[in-house]
Amino acid sequence: MKFFILFGPPGAGKGTQAGAMVERYHLCHLSTGELLRSEIAAGTPLGLQAKTLIEAGNLVPDEVVEGMIEAKFKSTRDVDGFLLDGFPRTIAQAEALDAMLAKNGEAVTACISLMIPDSVIYERIAKRAQIEGRADDARPEIVQNRIQTYHGKTEPLIDFYRKAGRYHEIDGLGSIEEVRERLFQTMDRF
Ligand code: ADP
Repeated sequence: MKFFILFGPPGAGKGTQAGAMVERYHLCHLSTGELLRSEIAAGTPLGLQAKTLIEAGNLVPDEVVEGMIEAKFKSTRDVDGFLLDGFPRTIAQAEALDAMLAKNGEAVTACISLMIPDSVIYERIAKRAQIEGRADDARPEIVQNRIQTYHGKTEPLIDFYRKAGRYHEIDGLGSIEEVRERLFQTMDRF
């Protein structure tokens, strides 16, 4: 099984590119953001807990997302691997992921990182706010908090995966097709 991490700041284009990637490599797309938004929409206890945190631009607790991911690993059949989108987002989550995989003799295949500068993050999220209407996209101070959270808690993962020899960075600027081609070129190697 292949375990790809699709990494990058909010607005880097992970959600936009994920569909083509899962199709080409026969993967299951696991987006913790999407999983959490469907819990919120369904009004589950987990959704209620997550809603306030997400709408303030904060992370939900590590154990919550770790539990969701492990459950999906166990229940998913007939794929060649997984595309993890939005997970791990902290060093603790990355360590939990390694432990989960090691139990089954598996390991992270590659961390594929889509990189864009902060100025572009703001532009793209402002545009998405008008199209998708996500509460956490709508207010500049919330977006600011998400970007700060990214730099403080998530960016250290770059070094984590670099040290593990699993880090592959891709330029996220350019057209959707251009970025997709760059992603495929890197992923074809695994
Ligand atoms: P984006 O990539 O635009 O930041 P996501 O859809 O991936 O958005 O996530 C939306 C929100 O869901 C995050 O800001 C965070 O509050 C929560 N979330 C998603 N994944 C995680 C995670 N792995 N750990 C903690 N919180 C998460």
